[in-house]
Amino acid sequence: MFFSRLLRLPSNDLAIDLGTVNTVVYAKGKGIVVNEPSVVALETIDGIRRVKAVGASAKLMMGKTPDQIQTIRPLRDGVIADLDVAEQMIKHFIDKAHGGASRLPRYPEIVVCVPSGSTSVERRAIRDAATNAGASKVWLIEEPMAAAIGAGLPVIEPIGAMVVDIGGGTTEVAVLSLQGLAYSTSVRVGGDKMDEAIGAAIRRKHNLMIGEATAERIKFELGTAVRPVGESATMRVRGRHLSEGMPKEVEITQMEVAEALAEPVSQIVSVVRTALENTAPELSADIVESGIVLTGGGALLKGMDRALSLSTGLPVAVADDPLVCVAIGAGRALEDLAYRGVLTEA
Ligand code: ADP
Ligand code: MG
Repeated sequence: MFFSRLLRLPSNDLAIDLGTVNTVVYAKGKGIVVNEPSVVALETIDGIRRVKAVGASAKLMMGKTPDQIQTIRPLRDGVIADLDVAEQMIKHFIDKAHGGASRLPRYPEIVVCVPSGSTSVERRAIRDAATNAGASKVWLIEEPMAAAIGAGLPVIEPIGAMVVDIGGGTTEVAVLSLQGLAYSTSVRVGGDKMDEAIGAAIRRKHNLMIGEATAERIKFELGTAVRPVGESATMRVRGRHLSEGMPKEVEITQMEVAEALAEPVSQIVSVVRTALENTAPELSADIVESGIVLTGGGALLKGMDRALSLSTGLPVAVADDPLVCVAIGAGRALEDLAYRGVLTEA
């Protein structure tokens, strides 16, 4: 590491947003270089487990694998569930960010985003995974802080700002001011719970079992956080009929999907309301003016901004590129010394 710095090899420094659904990597001076599902396909042969595919190619196998192959999402619930697999996934993405595995020594400094509620054990696991994957130094940044920087909020100034990051496994709500989190909380509700709710509703109503990927597609196409008015859009959906056991196609309406999503959406709304109730008055005063900024893939759910604005009375805006906002913010913290104060050494 010392020598590569001495020889002034080009910087390989990276910022990684290890999401429960997507991993996004930002390379210093370049921007986003990797954006792939946080999925690993493992193959077990003669009792030995090895990685078969990582990222987009592993996601394609989800729900369709033969017995000896298993796809897993190592970060599913917002923390590292399977350290060994997470490490291999991180290593794969780091190599990919550098343009493939190389024999040249690379000792990047890596900024990793961590959920604000993560424990010291979880942070250590992230640090170890990044170190074992080749990092010379690991910095941590709180995810809501990265999201706020990525969304262009004034996190260095003494001005309160609220960011709500709706990811796959969790929703994080934070009030930021002066390079710190004045308040933060999270719930294990996000895009995954929305998909599950859609799957459950279709099972109940149509007796049809659908896979995770189908549920997500329905959410993209018909999902809405507010009840649709007027004629409801429809979509044909395929799965396995529960009593007949046969493959079958049914038609579902946007109204059904909106009803299925009401519960997870209201849980998100309620955690935002709780955060606002716990915010110091001076910061609240700022938020009345600046409003709430939404990031994460869940921010793209139709009407999510409106649902939050209706229940809080505040202006709500969706960040540009909500899916990569956290990685961009972490990348900026890596590049711009003005943000060094938001990084902590792992
Ligand atoms: P994480 O940070 O946990 O990896 P992301 O911020 O990448 O999560 O968001 C992924 C979630 O966003 C998934 O549940 C995905 O289904 C959801 N999502 C992405 N695009 C949309 C959309 N257009 N409408 C609704 N949900 C979306
Ligand atoms: Mg995220």
